[in-house]
Amino acid sequence: MKTNEWFIRLRERFKDKQSIALHGIVYGAALLAIVMVGLCALVLYQSRQDALERTRETSRNVALIAERDIVRNFELYDLSLQAIIEGLRQPAVGALPAHLRRDVLFDRAATAKFLEALLVLDASGNVVIDSVSDVPRWANFASAAFFTAQRDRRDAGLFISDPVRFVLLGPTPSIVLSRRISRPDGSFAGIAMIAVSLDYFRNLFAGLSLGARGSASVIGGNGVMVMRQPFDERIIGRDISKASTFRRFVADKEGDFSDTASIDHVRRLYTFKTLPHLPFIVMVAVAEQDIYAAWRRRALTIGSLMAALGVAFVALSAVLGRQLRRRMRAESELQLLARTDGLTGLNNRRTFGEVLDLEWRRARRARGVFSLLFVDIDRFKAYNDTYGHQAGDEALAAVAKCIGDSIRRPGDTAARYGGEEFVVVLPNTHAAGASFIAEKIRAAICDLSLRHAGSEFGCVTASIGSASWDPESGMDVSEMIQDADRALYRAKAMGRNVVALSSRCAEAQGDEGPAFVRGALAR
Ligand code: GH3
Ligand code: MG
Ligand code: MG
Repeated sequence: MKTNEWFIRLRERFKDKQSIALHGIVYGAALLAIVMVGLCALVLYQSRQDALERTRETSRNVALIAERDIVRNFELYDLSLQAIIEGLRQPAVGALPAHLRRDVLFDRAATAKFLEALLVLDASGNVVIDSVSDVPRWANFASAAFFTAQRDRRDAGLFISDPVRFVLLGPTPSIVLSRRISRPDGSFAGIAMIAVSLDYFRNLFAGLSLGARGSASVIGGNGVMVMRQPFDERIIGRDISKASTFRRFVADKEGDFSDTASIDHVRRLYTFKTLPHLPFIVMVAVAEQDIYAAWRRRALTIGSLMAALGVAFVALSAVLGRQLRRRMRAESELQLLARTDGLTGLNNRRTFGEVLDLEWRRARRARGVFSLLFVDIDRFKAYNDTYGHQAGDEALAAVAKCIGDSIRRPGDTAARYGGEEFVVVLPNTHAAGASFIAEKIRAAICDLSLRHAGSEFGCVTASIGSASWDPESGMDVSEMIQDADRALYRAKAMGRNVVALSSRCAEAQGDEGPAFVRGALAR
């Protein structure tokens, strides 16, 4: 129902086909432009998603590679620790000279890159065996967490410390891995420890390109920062366990999310991974600004080009539509001019020919009737001679208006036949109806009361000949014209200012009516 109403409104709005075609061009172009811009937006949106997905994958790969490296190295460090403890259990090893014992206990692990020191501490936290020298360097670690944890718990296993800084362990902070040394009765005898320089982690992420605002970090399971690339010494050891991002790392173990950092208000994509069996979380963060930088440049270029193209397209269509509208208006004006008589504004002779032909065919097809009137102004030559051609033209126009005003039905057509002669086609009108209209016209011309000294009536008058067509008449168009013309001739012969019926009509009417009419209005 609604669709119907809409359609009716639409149809009313675009009354004719030309208007629909014109609106079709403009609206069609606008629609096409919208579709084009929409498609472009869709493609750009898709490529934005692709950029995000690519970054997500890269970050995941970085985290995975870092995880593998850390796990493998820490496994090796732990094996070294276990080997030291195993060696210390052997009485023969204890009996060896210091330099040989060092070789046996530490093997070649001490020379490994990023290893600051391998030490054995006694139960009081003093260094008793040192990987670096036969005479152990003096140091006491009794208060360090990696020592107390092993001292206080039998089952601490491998303990991994937060970043710590000790003079003995070199200038850079280290992570200490420790294991407990127990006596045969299970009591605490000391620890074996390995200090891994944080340079190891720094080296892990070195050269990684994560954009201007991106970072890669290793965070302790307790929220203490172990390493961050780009490197900033002040960040090492900072506790971020209260940060919302860290809480998500702990909750989900592995994954990614976007969040705005409270420190710099930069929105980043965080990809994180909790390492299995190790108290570390590897986190890669890339700023969304950097993720979309290339995409934004491309989107700006393509988007503005596309928008400009769309606007140009619509503008061009609008211009084309306007030109077409002008042309169509000019064409219809020309058509009107070609069908109209310039002086009187009535239809011209050519249009009359078309209308008469059409009416004749229609009447023949439908076995209907129609009538034709020939109107000729009386003594018009004399009028021109007396009042001049200019006045003659004005009188012609006045008479034409009279004729036009006297016919009311939509199908009735008046035309100028030539000179001071007019014709009227009256569809669906019998002879009686035609003579009524003819008389109305004649009287109306008379009523104009245009002074005409050369006329026997003293004013401008017209004679009218009327012919009617019915299925019995069998006349063609030219016979019809001749019939009306003859009737007009008879009207002239009868003294002018009179309506005469064609002989056929007169015969048909017989005694019922006169062959001519001079109405009561005649003066
Ligand atoms: P009748 O009563 O027999 O019709 O006499 P008439 O003088 O009207 O007849 P005729 O056909 O001899 O003359 C027609 C005149 O109409 C000739 C011409 O002066 C005048 N006429 C024809 N066309 C025009 C026109 O366009 N403008 C003017 N002013 N006069 C015209
Ligand atoms: Mg004439
Ligand atoms: Mg005349």
